[in-house]
Amino acid sequence: MEDLIVIGGGIVGLATAREALRRHPDLKVLVLEKADEVATAQTGHNSGVIHAGLYYTPGSLKARLCRAGERETKNLCDEYGIRYDTVGKLVIATDEVEIERMEQLAERGARNGIELQKIDRDELAEMEPNVRGRKALLSPATGIVDYREVARAMATDIVALGGRVITRSTVHSIDERSGATGEVVVGSDTGEYRARRMVACAGLQADRIASIGGIDVDFQIIPFRGEYYQLPHSRQGLVERLIYPVPDPDLPFLGVHLSPTIDGRITVGPNAVLGFSREGYPRGSVSPRDVARFMAFPGMWRFAKDNLRTGLQEMRSSYFPSSYLKLVRKYCPGLELGDLRPYPAGIRAQALMRDGTPVEDFLFRSTERQLHVCNAPSPAATSAIPIGSLIVDKVLNAVRG
Ligand SMILES: Cc1cc2nc3c(=O)[nH]c(=O)nc-3n(C[C@H](O)[C@H](O)[C@H](O)COP(=O)(O)OP(=O)(O)OC[C@H]3O[C@@H](n4cnc5c(N)ncnc54)[C@H](O)[C@@H]3O)c2cc1C
Repeated sequence: MEDLIVIGGGIVGLATAREALRRHPDLKVLVLEKADEVATAQTGHNSGVIHAGLYYTPGSLKARLCRAGERETKNLCDEYGIRYDTVGKLVIATDEVEIERMEQLAERGARNGIELQKIDRDELAEMEPNVRGRKALLSPATGIVDYREVARAMATDIVALGGRVITRSTVHSIDERSGATGEVVVGSDTGEYRARRMVACAGLQADRIASIGGIDVDFQIIPFRGEYYQLPHSRQGLVERLIYPVPDPDLPFLGVHLSPTIDGRITVGPNAVLGFSREGYPRGSVSPRDVARFMAFPGMWRFAKDNLRTGLQEMRSSYFPSSYLKLVRKYCPGLELGDLRPYPAGIRAQALMRDGTPVEDFLFRSTERQLHVCNAPSPAATSAIPIGSLIVDKVLNAVRG
C-alpha cells in the first residue's frame, strides 16, 4: 500500500510528490502519468517564463505562490544545473490609456512586493532598439527556462528519494473506501494501486478525474489553445528581454508577447482560442467527445455570450497571421508577415464554473482521502514548488496520521 498516489506527471504533480518525499523520505509515493514521459501536456507546451508575479491580485494565492515560486524555481535550477536566464521583462505602454494601466500595474506589482523600474522612451530605445513605446515597466527578476527540464529533474529526484513514477499509466477508476482502515484504490492501465491518500493534478483532464473520484463537479475544464509563431534565424537578437503589451484589466490573460527562449529562439504569442480537442495539439484538431462535453455545459454558453467579441478577435488572430502580426507590430513595428514561422501550440486547462465565470485562481476540491487540483492556471509552472508544498501541507498530516 502506498502512502500517497499522485495522478499526473506534470510539474504540479511532480512538485507535490517530490515535496512529500523531501519532507518524509520514509513515505511510499507513486506518480501515475498517462503519457510516455512526464511533462508532455501544459508543462511541456508553454512560454517558458519564470514569472515574477506583478499582475496578480494582491493577497491571492496566485500572487503569493508566484513570488515564492520565482525564487524556488531558480534555486532548483541552480541545484540541478538546469539552464535559466534572468533576462527581465518589459511591459510596453504605447498610448495614454496604456500608460494609465501601466501605472496601475506598477502599483499592483509594488503591493505584491515585486521589484519594478519605470523606463522612459529614451531608456527603452537604448535597452531594446527594435521596440517602440512611450513608457515601459521593467521587471528585472523575470526569467526564462525550459519547464520540461525542470519537471524531468523533479521526476529524477522523486526516484532518487525512493518514490516511483510510472508512465503509460492512464487512470480510469478511483474507489475511495472510508473509515479508519480506509484507502483509495486507483485503477489504471498498469494495474490497481492502493493508497492512504491520493492527489490528482490532471490538468486538462482535472474535471474527468474529479468526477471518477466521486466529486460533485461544479466546474468544467475548457481547453484554450495558445498559438505561437517563432521568428526566423535572421531575427534572432531582435529583443533581449521578454516584451509584453500592457494587459487589458478585463482580459488579463490575453496579450501576445515576444519571448526569447532558453534554447535561443524568439517566440511570438500566445493567443487564446477555444480548442476543440483537449489534447489535440495540431491546428484543426477536433475531439467529438470534448466538443460534446463543453456544448452540454451551461457555463460555456454564458461565457461565450459574455466574451463573443474577444473570442472572435482571437479566432481572427488564429486564422489570419496578418491580424496576429498587427498585435505585435504595435510595439515591435519592424516585424513582417514572413517573420512569423510555425511553432507548436500549447493548450490551457481553464476551469469554468456553471455560471460561466472563468476561475482565475487555484481551485481545489477534496474528500476525506482525495485532493483534486482542479485549476492550476499560468503561472503554475513558476509556482509549482510552493503549490506542491501547499498541497503536501493539506494532505500530509492525514497521510501520516
Ligand atoms: C500556452 C501556455 C503558456 C503558458 N506559459 C506559462 C509560462 O510562461 N510560465 C508559467 O509559469 N506558466 C505558464 N503556463 C501555465 C503552466 O504551463 C501550467 O499552469 C502548468 O504547466 C500546469 O501544470 P500541471 O501539472 O497542473 O498540468 P499538466 O502539465 O497539464 O500535467 C497534467 C498531467 O496529467 C496527466 N493526466 C491527465 N489525465 C490523466 C490520467 N487519467 N491518468 C494519468 N495521468 C493523467 C497528463 O498527461 C499531464 O501530464 C502556460 C500554459 C500554457 C498552456
